[in-house]
Amino acid sequence: MKVTREFILSGKSGAGGWTKRQLQILGVGWPPPKRWMKRVEGKTISDSAAKEFIALTGQKKRFRYRCIDKPNHTFFVKVDAPHEPSFCVVCGALATRES
Ligand SMILES: [Zn+2]
Repeated sequence: MKVTREFILSGKSGAGGWTKRQLQILGVGWPPPKRWMKRVEGKTISDSAAKEFIALTGQKKRFRYRCIDKPNHTFFVKVDAPHEPSFCVVCGALATRES
């Protein structure tokens, strides 16, 4: 398939970047040179490479949550951005974000 700007942007993670492997798939070295996006637009990559590129999207930031009821219950949630409270994965009580 043909690499378009939309395709490249759709592989961007919530944290705002691409992984080394994703850029490798596009034929971009590490660290990526300036204006690398312009250089790869219009390039053709295989369908399986495109699939891998998208599959690697969203290496999201992990946040630690702690259960309100049982402070020893802590767990991690992967989210794009600071998020509202979640529920404890152990007991289901409300949990708050710590980091
Ligand atoms: Zn709990």
